[in-house]
Amino acid sequence: MRAAVIEGPGCVVVRDVPAVRAADGRALVRVSQAGVCGTDLKIAAGDIPVVAPVVLGHEMTGRVEIPGRAGALAPGTAVLLNPSPFCGRCSRCRRDLPHLCRHGRLLGRDADGCFAEYIAADDALLHPIPDSVTRDEGALLQVLSTCIHAQSAIRAWPEDVAVVIGLGVAGLLHLQLLRERGVRSIIAVTRSAAKHELARRFGASAVVAPDEADEAVADVTAGRGADIALECAGSAATLAQAFRLAGAGAQVMLFGIITGIADTRPYEWYYKELTIKSPRAARPRDYDSAIALCAQRRLDLAPLVTSRFPLSRLPEAFAACADPGQLKVVLDIADAGAA
Ligand SMILES: [Zn+2]
Ligand SMILES: [Zn+2]
Repeated sequence: MRAAVIEGPGCVVVRDVPAVRAADGRALVRVSQAGVCGTDLKIAAGDIPVVAPVVLGHEMTGRVEIPGRAGALAPGTAVLLNPSPFCGRCSRCRRDLPHLCRHGRLLGRDADGCFAEYIAADDALLHPIPDSVTRDEGALLQVLSTCIHAQSAIRAWPEDVAVVIGLGVAGLLHLQLLRERGVRSIIAVTRSAAKHELARRFGASAVVAPDEADEAVADVTAGRGADIALECAGSAATLAQAFRLAGAGAQVMLFGIITGIADTRPYEWYYKELTIKSPRAARPRDYDSAIALCAQRRLDLAPLVTSRFPLSRLPEAFAACADPGQLKVVLDIADAGAA
């Protein structure tokens, strides 16, 4: 079968690999489509180390070809993959933290992923998708699951003032989820004028440039600061901004992945008695919530898919991700028509 394999830092090739089999009770799933994510780019570039060779990719939908041992999913069932296997028995799994399983891995980094024609996975990692979910919507469900997981860690009231910093795919999904939770005042911060209209459509009450954010939040809150600050850009500067825009007693969520925090002031965290959340991955139930929210037509996911490439054109798909005008770049692996 064809697959995109990382052979070493900076070296990804699409080539033939031995066909995956439905061994060890796992289901065999034919991959329909796979989303390209910043994590894939970091792995490909060697910024996130992996033991090569490994098949890249962790965001996918597909169809069950051979059911797993549990037999929960019939052949032909459309499924969303949870790319974080969990053991179900360790101390963290028993504390309802399967996404932080002590034996956990990320497919596409620590084991073969989904930039391939087939993948084998335990039934527990496969979440059925109803037919009403379109292909474009399906492409966003894995990311949406991580956003739902993140928001499950914070409280939100209609009268809260929220600020969402960074309007990539995650920021735009967080906007919609905050709107869905009834938050009426949401200030979106983006450098991109092109995203203003989309942000308003998705629930932002104001959309401002980074250098206007302090004033906008001060205006709306009469100087109190935001109640909820969601950092979705993943830079030291936007992290510092999130803490600055947060008011006393606020909840700050670090959703963008940041490896260094040189420009932050921990005294501010203490002084404002901030609640800081740094969510990772998603619980199995978050995948089901993502599918249900989408199937109930409560979110607008399709506009977030901005380009599609066949697997053979992976280098072009990776190059497209560098274009700030792109949101979700998707690889078509099986024929369109499959979810
Ligand atoms: Zn991802
Ligand atoms: Zn576990």
